[in-house]
Amino acid sequence: MSEKRRNSLRTLFVCAFVVGLALPALAVQPRERLARYDGAVKPRAGGTVAISPLAVDELPSGDSLRRGWEKFVTEQGGGWKVYIDPRSGLPALAEGRGIPWVPGPGNTLQSDGPVTIERLERLARNFLAEHQALLGEWNDQIEIDPEASVERRPGVYQLVFRQVVDGVRVENARFDFHVAAGNLVSFGTHRWARVTTSGVPRIDAAEAQTIFDAYLGGEDRESRVPAAPPELTLLALDPRMERSPAPWQGARGEGLAHRLVWRLSFRVPGEAPLWVGEIDAHSGEVLAFYDAAHYASVRGGVFPRMGNGDCAAGGCDFPHPLPFADISEDGQASVFTDDFGVYQCNSDGAPVTTSLDAQYVRIADECGPTTESAVCAEGLDFGQRAGENCAVQPGASDGNTSAARTSFYHVNRAKQAARAYMPDNTWLQGVLTVNTNVNNTCNASYGGQLNMFRAGNGCGNTGENLGVVVHEWGHGMDDNDGGGFDNPSEAYADVVAIFWSHDGCIGPGFYVDGRTCSGFGDTCLECTGVREMDWAKRQSGEPATPAGFVDPRCDAGDGPCGRQVHCESHPISESIYDLATRDLPAMGLDAASAWQLAEKLWYETRTGSGGDIYNCSLPA
Ligand SMILES: [Zn+2]
Repeated sequence: MSEKRRNSLRTLFVCAFVVGLALPALAVQPRERLARYDGAVKPRAGGTVAISPLAVDELPSGDSLRRGWEKFVTEQGGGWKVYIDPRSGLPALAEGRGIPWVPGPGNTLQSDGPVTIERLERLARNFLAEHQALLGEWNDQIEIDPEASVERRPGVYQLVFRQVVDGVRVENARFDFHVAAGNLVSFGTHRWARVTTSGVPRIDAAEAQTIFDAYLGGEDRESRVPAAPPELTLLALDPRMERSPAPWQGARGEGLAHRLVWRLSFRVPGEAPLWVGEIDAHSGEVLAFYDAAHYASVRGGVFPRMGNGDCAAGGCDFPHPLPFADISEDGQASVFTDDFGVYQCNSDGAPVTTSLDAQYVRIADECGPTTESAVCAEGLDFGQRAGENCAVQPGASDGNTSAARTSFYHVNRAKQAARAYMPDNTWLQGVLTVNTNVNNTCNASYGGQLNMFRAGNGCGNTGENLGVVVHEWGHGMDDNDGGGFDNPSEAYADVVAIFWSHDGCIGPGFYVDGRTCSGFGDTCLECTGVREMDWAKRQSGEPATPAGFVDPRCDAGDGPCGRQVHCESHPISESIYDLATRDLPAMGLDAASAWQLAEKLWYETRTGSGGDIYNCSLPA
């Protein structure tokens, strides 16, 4: 190709239309971030305590616990349901029609002064003493949690007691009481059992630190900055100390064991993880080592395939993680979510904002700016479809459109997959601008940026259409793989779309008025996209060859045969589709392996490709 022609091609807005859909094969992706101490991670054995409560009437009829609770229910006039935690023999939940505690609309007690948490605490302690045979004797281990004990709504109270041994709290153990309309209406325990482990440590914090340092090794000790003072805590664990949780089958009341631990933590400045070690304060054993950083995610509604509302075919949006999105916490410089849309909060309550002006993709939506914010720890949810084109959810920014979210997601995934094949390609490392809801219809284009058009005139919004989005991105990849555009670039773009969709129909849902593609006169039987590259699904049932298809059907143009470039995509794209779905399977490959091989052959031969994809000399 002459230099002049190449330049004219480069400046041309390459028309689009593409296909496909298909999630990237995550297995071929390299892990984006390997944290420094990943190799030392040790999950807390027994830390996940599976609880399957048992209704009291499921206990054997002669069981003394069952008889005791039946007596309780009778005394309260019936109407109570009690579920036992087999690990402790205590109620996981008891709920009923109410036991009058303080004056309220649910009883006839006479008003006698204000209802306070202190007053309710006294009532709860009296209740425990009255029902000691069923609830146990905890006076030496129980204390009210003033932060968790609150009036949730007028007249509705939650009381939470914590278990404390030798001044050390048992983590996550709680005994709850709920009062509504003046009555006790429910109570229950969680991870609550008699502690037989001493809360007085045998080793001190300094000794625990020495053990921790030895566990981690000394190489980068200087880089570790303590994140919090050493903390002594009691853990209630499954006594089997196994990694995977299972319901308790052992003796009732023996389903929890306690370990006193020193919890030590550190960060490495500039890195996300908050590393935590737990060292048994009696034995010195390293019980656990893990990343405790609080991660939240950016997510939003994305159309898997198209925006036409045909849910079974991938035409309805649902929440997806938004990968590599920008996140600014409290006005600080942006960081980026990982490939699962996850980010880390420095401060859980801080505000975070994103504008999809991100690591690899920048969205510019013509409906308005895209800016969403949230509380850091809660994560940032863009929400889902509100309607066509510029419609957004109430309160959402003008540019938080279905096309913005969907294009952001799919272009990111396409780039991510390509980075795995072409790790040295600088364009893939850069930021690609995607203009969504461009005020036009029935097309899309690439010209250094992607331009995705609105729905209308019988066409769907191309920014909501995986196949079209990836086709346009394919032009960009073609432009930036070295060697300039292939000719026709339409074939490059169609092939990329086919790989993503595993579908010969390029951009199904492009037409939403019942039309199928024209096939340049060889009518598409079912494809609502722009081209059908499975010849069996066109009227003729014949593969498109230069002599049999391009010559009689394609108008004059700039393709290798001197014909229109979209039309000339057919012989090439059909060959690739045939290779993946017919030729390779005929040689014995399963479908998934056939697609993978075809894709690998394609991408790994793209670097430096350009000019005519094939030689052609049609009859004069
Ligand atoms: Zn195109």
